Amino acid sequence: MATNVSLQLFGALLLFLALQPSESLLNHGMFHLVCNHSSPDRSPKWNNLQLSYGLQFDSPPPAGLNFRQVIDAIDAAFKTWQPVLPRLVFRKVRGVGGGVNVLVYVNAGPLVPSDPFMKLVFVNVTVNWSTGLSPAGNQLDMQSAVVHEVGHVLGLGHSQSPDAVMYHVLDYGRIKRNLSQDDITGLQNLYG
Ligand SMILES: [Zn+2]
Repeated sequence: MATNVSLQLFGALLLFLALQPSESLLNHGMFHLVCNHSSPDRSPKWNNLQLSYGLQFDSPPPAGLNFRQVIDAIDAAFKTWQPVLPRLVFRKVRGVGGGVNVLVYVNAGPLVPSDPFMKLVFVNVTVNWSTGLSPAGNQLDMQSAVVHEVGHVLGLGHSQSPDAVMYHVLDYGRIKRNLSQDDITGLQNLYG
C-alpha cells in the first residue's frame, strides 16, 4: 500500500525541479519519511548558523487542526535543535520574501523555491496529522516529523539508530520530538 509522502525536504538546488511524485512506504504502522537531499557536490553545512525561517500557508490547516496548533508544532520543532550548538539561532520572520533561509510550506502539494539558496520543508495537509500528546494509531505527530526535517535543513542525513529523530521511519501514533544522543552527536560532529 502506498500513500502520499507527508514531508519532503527540498534542497536549494535545481535538482529538485525534476521533482516527481514520491510514494512513501507504509509498513506495519510505520511511516517512511521520504526526504530529498541536497546535491552531494555541495556542502550541506551552513557557514552562518543564524538562520531565518518563515511559514507559508497556501491551504487551510490539516483536518482537525487549527492554524495555531500547526504553527506551534513547527516553531517547537525548530527550537528543539537550538540548544545543541551555541551559535545556532533560528529566527522566525514574517513573510517569506527574499532572504529567508528556510521556508515551511503548508499545502497539499509542494512548490519549488524561487530563491536557489532557500531550503524548503513541505508539510502536506492531506496527511492525518496530530499535534497533541497522544496521536492515534493512524496519525502522525507533526512536530516529530518537522524536527526530523529541520535536522536535514541543518545538514544531517539519516541515522541508523531507530531511536534517533533522524531515523528514516516515523511510527504512526508515536511522539518522537526529543533529540537522541545520536542526533546531538551528529550535529556536533558536523559543525564541530
Ligand atoms: Zn529524512
